[in-house]
Amino acid sequence: MRAMLFEQVGRPLRVVEHEVPIAGPGQLLVRVHACGICRTDLHLLDGEVTIDSPPRILGHQIVGTVQDAGEPVPPRPADGPEEPTLPAVGDRVGIPWLGWTDGECEWCLSGRENLCPHARFTGRDIDGGMAEYAVADARFCLPIPEDYPDEQAAPLMCAGLIGYRALRMCGEARRVGLYGFGASAHILAQVLSAQGREVYAFTRADDERTQAFARQLGVSWTGGSEDLPPQPLDAAIVFAPIGELVPLALAAVAPAGVVVCGGIHMSDIPSFPYSALWQERVVRSVANLTRADGHEFLALAPKVPVHTRVTVYPLEQANEALADLRAGRLQGAAVLVP
Ligand SMILES: [Zn+2]
Ligand SMILES: [Zn+2]
Repeated sequence: MRAMLFEQVGRPLRVVEHEVPIAGPGQLLVRVHACGICRTDLHLLDGEVTIDSPPRILGHQIVGTVQDAGEPVPPRPADGPEEPTLPAVGDRVGIPWLGWTDGECEWCLSGRENLCPHARFTGRDIDGGMAEYAVADARFCLPIPEDYPDEQAAPLMCAGLIGYRALRMCGEARRVGLYGFGASAHILAQVLSAQGREVYAFTRADDERTQAFARQLGVSWTGGSEDLPPQPLDAAIVFAPIGELVPLALAAVAPAGVVVCGGIHMSDIPSFPYSALWQERVVRSVANLTRADGHEFLALAPKVPVHTRVTVYPLEQANEALADLRAGRLQGAAVLVP
């Protein structure tokens, strides 16, 4: 099969002929129809998030069809009694970032498998979807809502899921600010406006194109990241990996407001006076996802309904897609098709 291989930090991905993987016990072999790219892929390329044992096939927003299944394995305590029926040959599935957990640590057993210290992640510790086939643990595959074409469904797998988990950390916030209007924010803006909340989008000061795109998606106010919104926000989510945005977002939230950092990596956060945090303001991060997040969000997305805006690239142009993401040339999400 064709695959895009990560070999070393700082090097572009390389097109290779790779053996089709074989589904082991509890695993599925999935024929990849589409694979979204994510800012995390840039962090992996740049070594800001480490790949312990390269070479590795990246890609953790996979949509495909189950082609073959390995021997079934018995369920584990953390898989829970409500574990949905596992996918079977012929089903369309999604493969997200969380690829495997031990199922027996205190985090897994308390509904926080996103924090499992032994978790393995798709496209980092396990070969991912920038290829014609991928193998995944059946218990971590997610159902794809029927009405979504493959390319439109792919960005739901990480951009959508991480955005959704970040939103949950915002509680009942009515006025929500989004710093960085990329793949996650363009999905979340649609969810927020369907829920009747007010959305404020902060972009680079002169990025009128992205601000116009945000307003098309129900965002009520757009501005530069240094601007203050017309009224204080109840919550802000920082998707851009820029630490300077954290004190700016804190200045934009009301007392008890929460600032959620949605990325896996961020540049250092500059120091700020305690008064910026005073009055019960909160700064927190959101890490990975649980399978429960996945099932909840994929049930919600067609009800909104979320329409993803995607730019499709052939698999072999993964480096071009990543360069476009890095340069901020994309509106919405980028998706590779083999
Ligand atoms: Zn665990
Ligand atoms: Zn991602």
